[in-house]
Amino acid sequence: MATLADAPIEIKTLPLPMALPAEMREKVLADPGFGKVFTDRMISIDWSEDKGWHGGVLGPRQPIALDPAAAVLHYAQEIFEGLKAYRLADGTMALFRPEENARRFNASAARLAMPALPEETFVEAVRMLTLADADWFPKVDGGSLYLRPFMFASEAFLGVRPAKRYKFLVIASPAGNYFKSGAPAVSIWVSSDYTRAAPGGTGAAKCGGNYAASLVPQAEAIERGHDQVVFLDAAEHKWIEELGGMNLFFVFDDGSMITPPLGGTILPGITRDSLLTLAREEGLTVREERYSLDQWRSDAESGRLVETFACGTAAVVTPVGRVAGHDGEFTIGSGGPGQMTSRLRERLVAIQRGTAEDKHGWVMRLG
Ligand SMILES: *Cc1c(COP(=O)(O)O)cnc(C)c1O
Repeated sequence: MATLADAPIEIKTLPLPMALPAEMREKVLADPGFGKVFTDRMISIDWSEDKGWHGGVLGPRQPIALDPAAAVLHYAQEIFEGLKAYRLADGTMALFRPEENARRFNASAARLAMPALPEETFVEAVRMLTLADADWFPKVDGGSLYLRPFMFASEAFLGVRPAKRYKFLVIASPAGNYFKSGAPAVSIWVSSDYTRAAPGGTGAAKCGGNYAASLVPQAEAIERGHDQVVFLDAAEHKWIEELGGMNLFFVFDDGSMITPPLGGTILPGITRDSLLTLAREEGLTVREERYSLDQWRSDAESGRLVETFACGTAAVVTPVGRVAGHDGEFTIGSGGPGQMTSRLRERLVAIQRGTAEDKHGWVMRLG
């Protein structure tokens, strides 16, 4: 049943007094990198206990004033999402499964004791900002507009309880092609001193706090000469969970594939979910099943395990070539990108870019 809380929230469009001059924008768009530059506009919607969601605007991107006692600054009541707008082969802008981001956003909100945002409003906000700042779409091959919806507790109050005021915002950032022709294999470090998520914790929620806790282990991985950290489960320190911001898949020589099961300590990636579907279509036997570090090492050494890859919106699919931990190192396959990894990556990218048929209705065309 539709209740008032589910009704879409109005978002007013404000004039933009000052956009970045076109020449400057073009310069930035020639090599945008990732997450460094932002478009001219943002969406902002407020929530308060008495009014619910209100004051929705699409307006100039600008600093936000916060009371120093705002709850988010003290107790980290914050969640976010990350998705990309693509340009299809015919020039139309499109989003990939944005309803899934909307649904996950509300699941994260529920875990962090925050109000739900109508899913329609989430998708509409992302759509409006993408269309309004379409000039910011990078001209580089494989470019996209990265969208970052987020919500935080804005109430000025130091008592410990769910806040009574929140802000929902969406900002956008032009992104270049992560890797021009297929991703190079990365080297990952197994953290034995730190965990990302414990049973009953916030591992399945996309919240800033999880990322804050992953910075030290990630820095440790870099310090030791690796690209990314991989976390083991908090209870037994045995089962492979995921990277700081990407899910993992293991590919075997008998045409089967494993990914760690969801269950509270793993972030339910939309890329993960899409690849599960695509892999089954490719005829692979896919299991969501626990896989241990010891097994990973012995399967890599025996050759039973042929590929490992990480996946997420930002870099899509990234092959893992080398794994190191306190007990030594091992190489996966040839140490380079594997066949199935490249194939799944190409299939997903082709659907996202509109060059392959979208059988599952994953692509939402805008305008
Ligand atoms: C966002 C995220 C992912 C990837 O999710 P996608 O929906 O595929 O982008 C994986 N792990 C963590 C911890 C994340 O925050």
